[in-house]
Amino acid sequence: MTYTESVLSSIEKKYADQPEFLQAVREVFESLEKVISKNEEVYKREAILERLVEPDRQIIFRVPWVDDQGQVRINTGYRVQFNNSIGPYKGGLRLHPSVNLSIMKFLGFEQVFKNSLTSLPIGGAKGGSDFDPKGKSDREVMAFCQSFMTELCKYIGADTDVPAGDIGTGAREIGYLFGQYKRIRGLYEGVLTGKGLSYGGSLVRTQATGYGLLYLVEELLKCHQDNIQGKVVAISGAGNVAIYAAEKAQQLGAKVVTMSDSTGWIYDEDGVDLAVVKEIKEVRRARLTEYKKARPNAQYHEGKGVWTVKCDIALPCATQNELLIDDAKALVANGVKVVAEGANMPTSIEATKYLQNSGVLFVPGKAANAGGVATSALEMSQNSERLSWSFEEVDAKLKSIMVNIYHNIEDAAKRYDCEGNYVAGANIAGFEKVVDAMMAHGAC
Ligand code: NDP
Repeated sequence: MTYTESVLSSIEKKYADQPEFLQAVREVFESLEKVISKNEEVYKREAILERLVEPDRQIIFRVPWVDDQGQVRINTGYRVQFNNSIGPYKGGLRLHPSVNLSIMKFLGFEQVFKNSLTSLPIGGAKGGSDFDPKGKSDREVMAFCQSFMTELCKYIGADTDVPAGDIGTGAREIGYLFGQYKRIRGLYEGVLTGKGLSYGGSLVRTQATGYGLLYLVEELLKCHQDNIQGKVVAISGAGNVAIYAAEKAQQLGAKVVTMSDSTGWIYDEDGVDLAVVKEIKEVRRARLTEYKKARPNAQYHEGKGVWTVKCDIALPCATQNELLIDDAKALVANGVKVVAEGANMPTSIEATKYLQNSGVLFVPGKAANAGGVATSALEMSQNSERLSWSFEEVDAKLKSIMVNIYHNIEDAAKRYDCEGNYVAGANIAGFEKVVDAMMAHGAC
């Protein structure tokens, strides 16, 4: 048994009840086999892999809040501080009923590599709660956020751990969380990113993940003597990442034909009208069923199905494990050329392999969606120097970071004889920097 296999086997036993976390670790370890085998004795003596898979700390707490009927409600809050070898912990807060420790750990683990790939000094973490903001009044969301932050504020800070948004945590939630932190700690500091522009937020942060995804896809196509102009794009999700991925795709001359939410999906052969989607999702917080009212020629379908349409580029931007083997087969049969992940781990390992083996250019989320956290790090820089950069300045930095990420993962894949395997490239490039820092810090 190799060192990688033996560590994997031991955590598979120890964390058998954490399927998402094990899935993320398996995918990373598989790519690292070649890197580890070059220096196995040293990595083994330093217990590098054992340290990589064990978070620095996991904070789990009760979040009591009072609903509009006067009933006390209880949720569970999490912050998994995974690895701070290259900088303060950084990673979003997810508010969704599916949140549990396995999902927090998978996201935190992925975040370590993603943050390393940005080339900025940020470590990896993730947090959130099984609280569902959907259907709650603004007052209830505020009550939850204040209670959540009352506990979380003990563990975070501008130089310690800087959370951000994620599924269910948008501008409204970040505002309430920031207000409570400031009130309890008496500190006006860049402790959260994704803040409003009037209190320390950065221009482009809202668009960053979606725009960054498209900047990377643009560079990928350019390096394959192609371009995005006129391409048909299928997108899943209708949240922050999906909306701004669609916006940039359209700006670059592509046609976006699908979007989805947790109940169904739309197919608009003439190209999705993004103004309508933004009005439904960002303003009214309603369902995509509403889309057909404004665009009668479009189709609305219940359930899943965005990957069944003909497209050149597929961008999963909703949630984990939303593109499975049958979806991959349908995409390949329909001639897809590029799949780039806007969400975290939306594609199962089996589907990823099928796409790669079918010659599809596949870019994993830890590289393709790193624009969000990279721009969060730019927000931290602006907060530290108490300045705000222009939209153009931040956007140009974001683009250059995404172009660099592409070349970085491409180069790492080539160095280890797996050219074009961007999953391996991203895992290797992310790993190299983190491990270098871990070794320098000694056994800690
Ligand atoms: P949002 O909450 O803004 O949007 C999520 C979208 O996905 C919504 O349309 C939602 O549907 C849909 N969705 C969520 N859960 C499910 C589910 N279980 N089944 C089907 N559809 C679902 O989140 P974001 O856009 O911020 O995040 C999307 C993904 O991108 C996540 O994986 C996140 O971790 C990742 N990501 C986000 C970053 C960011 O900057 N925001 C940065 C990097 C990665 P509905 O509208 O019905 O709620």
